Amino acid sequence: MDTPPSPSPVSSPGGGGGEDCCVKVAVHVRPLIADEKAQGCKDCVTVVPGKPQVQIGTHSFTFDHVYGSTGSPSTAMFEECVAPLVDGLFQGYNATVLAYGQTGSGKTYTMGTGFKDGYQAGIIPQVMSVLFGKIETLKHQTEFQLHVSFIEILKEEVRDLLDPSCLHKAESPNGHSGKVNLPGKPPIQIRESSNGVITLAGSTEVTVGSFKEMAAYLEQGSLSRATGSTNMNNQSSRSHAIFTITVEQMRKTNPLFAGDGSPNDGMNDEYLCAKLHLVDLAGSERAKRTGSDGLRFKEGIHINKGLLALGNVISALGDEKKRKEGLHVPYRDSKLTRLLQDSLGGNSRTCMIACISPADINAEETLNTLKYANRARNIQNKPIVNRDPMSSEMLKMRQQLEYLQAELCARGGFSSDEVQVLKERIAWLEATNEDLCRELHVYRSRCAAVDPREIDAQDICSVKGEGLKRSLCSLEASDYQMVETVQSDAREIDEEVAKEWEHTLLQSTMDKELHELNRRLEEKESEMKLVGGFDTAALKQHFGKKIMEMEDEKRVVQQERDRLLAEIANLSAGSDGHAQKLQDAHSQKLKTLETQILDLKKKQESQVQLLKQKHKSDEAAKKLQEEIQSIKAQKVQLQHRMKQEAEQFRQWKASREKELLQLRKEGRRNEYERHKLQAINQRQKMVLQRKTEEAAVATKRLKELLEGRKSSPRDNGLSNGHVTNGQSNEKSLHRWLDHELEVMVNIHEVRFEYEKQSQVRTALGEELAVLRQVDELASKGITPPKGKNGFARATSMSPNARMSRIASLESMLSISSNSLVAMASQLSEAEERERSLTSRGRWNQLRSMGEAKSLLQHMFHSLGDARCQMWEKDMEIKEIKEQFKELVNLLRQSETRRKEIEKELRLREQAVAIALATAASVGLISKHS
Ligand code: ADP
Ligand code: MG
Repeated sequence: MDTPPSPSPVSSPGGGGGEDCCVKVAVHVRPLIADEKAQGCKDCVTVVPGKPQVQIGTHSFTFDHVYGSTGSPSTAMFEECVAPLVDGLFQGYNATVLAYGQTGSGKTYTMGTGFKDGYQAGIIPQVMSVLFGKIETLKHQTEFQLHVSFIEILKEEVRDLLDPSCLHKAESPNGHSGKVNLPGKPPIQIRESSNGVITLAGSTEVTVGSFKEMAAYLEQGSLSRATGSTNMNNQSSRSHAIFTITVEQMRKTNPLFAGDGSPNDGMNDEYLCAKLHLVDLAGSERAKRTGSDGLRFKEGIHINKGLLALGNVISALGDEKKRKEGLHVPYRDSKLTRLLQDSLGGNSRTCMIACISPADINAEETLNTLKYANRARNIQNKPIVNRDPMSSEMLKMRQQLEYLQAELCARGGFSSDEVQVLKERIAWLEATNEDLCRELHVYRSRCAAVDPREIDAQDICSVKGEGLKRSLCSLEASDYQMVETVQSDAREIDEEVAKEWEHTLLQSTMDKELHELNRRLEEKESEMKLVGGFDTAALKQHFGKKIMEMEDEKRVVQQERDRLLAEIANLSAGSDGHAQKLQDAHSQKLKTLETQILDLKKKQESQVQLLKQKHKSDEAAKKLQEEIQSIKAQKVQLQHRMKQEAEQFRQWKASREKELLQLRKEGRRNEYERHKLQAINQRQKMVLQRKTEEAAVATKRLKELLEGRKSSPRDNGLSNGHVTNGQSNEKSLHRWLDHELEVMVNIHEVRFEYEKQSQVRTALGEELAVLRQVDELASKGITPPKGKNGFARATSMSPNARMSRIASLESMLSISSNSLVAMASQLSEAEERERSLTSRGRWNQLRSMGEAKSLLQHMFHSLGDARCQMWEKDMEIKEIKEQFKELVNLLRQSETRRKEIEKELRLREQAVAIALATAASVGLISKHS
């Protein structure tokens, strides 16, 4: 049996009495964080502008406030939700602010419990600043005393975060004090006083006098929370942190002493005490589910008892019907609910802040959070003004006095005796009151003087924020190089064309030159032939001989003539007839000889002329010969040059070819990559679409199952009329069970699809992140580091390929995102249903042993069937495995064969290439020689 959460309300005209007020629930939607953005997460949460309404998928929830996203700005949260609670503290009202949500949803950020990031913007620092601001303005009329405690509940154990020994341990470098208490120190215990007030025995409660001091304690506690565990994230996500500020106040000027008898307006209370709990709850996420019903937790994983109990408390309190029935509220199920007993359904003004991530991957948890928080809105609290028992007593008396005085006036007079008695009574009461007040004051000041600790804020170890410096400078500039390469490639291509062109031009001019030389040579040679087709020396000899012969002949003829002349002279001396005859004959002969000589002379002359001409032509021939020689020399030179040039070109060409081959290979690879990528894109998209469709079918079926028929067999039975005979009742029970099983299998299916889809989603997101990063770096001209995962591939992609891949990934991500949100929605519904069934009891439906037996029988048959089917499937799987093995072997064989053939082919190609190259070079040389 739970004790009533608070002292019975003290009714007062000042309004300090128990007022009904609901737990206020605000939603804080944080922005997508860098990590989520990097994963390509989509924002799946919509806030209806101007309304405190959140939509996710097909679900819509209304709260008291919604901050972040398109809702109110987060900065308004403190003013609207928390500031009224702080004001309430000064009127003596307890208050609680709870941050609920999955890990990473922004609870610590919102509360400001962490001392690092967003520390200034968090709720706790703002509370402190407002608190001390107000105290400053009120201090001349009221005396304040503030205490803080900071505890953590981890695995149902309360840790004192302000424990000095903890602080000490936090300072030691490798100190991880999971168990926090000193050996001798008793563990912290939760106690409940006789008037139902919950207190923590053994936890440090320190008095603070300034903002700075309080901030130091907050920081110390945060630090202790962070370093107290070997795994900070793990711990802070599994533990609840409660920072409690206790405000005690006492008015310095007692109105009774002032003697003005001012009316009691509730502000005249002498002593007020109020607590403010600021709670950073453990991460609300459920452990991964792998059980057959898709809802149970993996064994060994600890379910957060506090949150589970909190959920049950919220459910119990949120259900009006149950509350009216006086249903048991399981506060005692956990330390958390026990400590927050007042905050939920009790003496506290409470505000819950449901922190959510807008990312699609968190859709299921976000839905769960919103449902959980929505239930909390139904909790009715009864906050009262917390006075000191003595103050209450005094107030009661004063009220009584007033009442009596009023009655006195109404009666219009008493007997003087009565008045005297009353006056005496009043005097006595006031005197007592005065005494009590004085006593109280003395105690208080004594108490303050005894304050055990004074902590210098400076002493609290400050850990330097380990700012993660990610220097972009360290990234290699390889992407830049790539762009450079592309540019220089273009340049090189131009250069190459030019060079090739130059080469051909040179070769062709030289060819022309050579041709010209050849032509001239031919010309000269033919000219030469014309000049003298035969040997000149022989000719000369021939002519010389001929001339000599002629000379000889001439001489013979002249001798003959001279002889004849002499004979004639002799004959004329003789002058006989015979002599005359002889003389005549001689004269005749002489004449012939004379002509003969003349002829010879002429011939000789012409011969000389010819010889002269011959000489001339010899000269010309010589010149020609020289010319021919020079042309030939030129030709040789030219040929040499041509050969040299050709060799140079060949070398250049060869190296170029090598480069080209490389480039072509790359080009081919790029082309191949592009095709492959396209194929991958398409195939992936198709697979994704198919998966999504399958998931959609399963999700739709689950939705129908969840929405359609109610899970109660009675509902089923009644739906088709009257259930009078037992048989039809049994049938409906069986149908109900089948339906339950179907729901279970279906949830499992959707859960399975969900996990698959999440994995796909993660992979897509990761790839997209890498591509985007590479793209961004490339646009800045930086080459991303190749060593990083996936970077090499992304970098080797052409910008176009990258763009198309990014587009494709984005579209796939958005398909995946929608599918995930839809599934998350149904899974969350299923969870809700399961929870309600668990609390109601699945088997409460059964009313008699007969029904139970019949259902058991039915179950037995179903199970038997299922087992038999499973056995058959096992056999099938075995067979298929065998076949698979064979196929793998075959595949391996064919693979080796393929490799062999490829090798052969490569060798052949090489041989052909070599042959072609030799042929080409031979051709080149033969052409020019
Ligand atoms: P939780 O305590 O719920 O696990 P945290 O408060 O540690 O979550 O927040 C997780 C991350 O999200 C932190 O890096 C935090 O800085 C960031 N974050 C949370 N809420 C906001 C917000 N409203 N605006 C910006 N960043 C936020
Ligand atoms: Mg946190």
